[in-house]
Amino acid sequence: MADECVFCKIMKGEIPCCKIYEDDKILAFLDIAPVNKGHMLVVPKKHFETLEDTDSETFKEIMLVAKKIAPVITKAVNAQGFNLGFNNKKAAGQLVPHLHIHIIPRFENDDLTIDKQPTKKYAEKEMRETAEKIRNLLKK
Ligand code: AMP
Ligand code: ZN
Repeated sequence: MADECVFCKIMKGEIPCCKIYEDDKILAFLDIAPVNKGHMLVVPKKHFETLEDTDSETFKEIMLVAKKIAPVITKAVNAQGFNLGFNNKKAAGQLVPHLHIHIIPRFENDDLTIDKQPTKKYAEKEMRETAEKIRNLLKK
């Protein structure tokens, strides 16, 4: 655990999140500043800063969770596809120094590119409702 790390604070329950999935090693929650609705982060509970620091077993686990959840999110928000992505280190746009994989639902003609990913805001209640919808679909 890194004291100042925002994701470690989420793990400890010090900062709230819209949780989608949890097991003993992984927490997945909605990104607070989504590129598209349903944008989610899959995060190991243990603090690893970069992909280089992360052991293979943990990497495998987060990829398997992403594989399971990404199609469900896509369905929940009626997207036509999704991107999985790591921003690894500051030069690559990593803002939170705790390893995480982004799942970004994609829509035909949403005009996003690898360099152009403006963030959006959820309307009131929309974030919680989106999380609930994804969680319900995951149960099926
Ligand atoms: P990165 O640039 O890959 O480090 O992305 C970090 C992501 O974490 C950004 O997309 C942020 O919007 C997201 N983020 C930061 N703080 C929070 C938070 N408290 N809850 C949910 N997502 C967050
Ligand atoms: Zn951390």
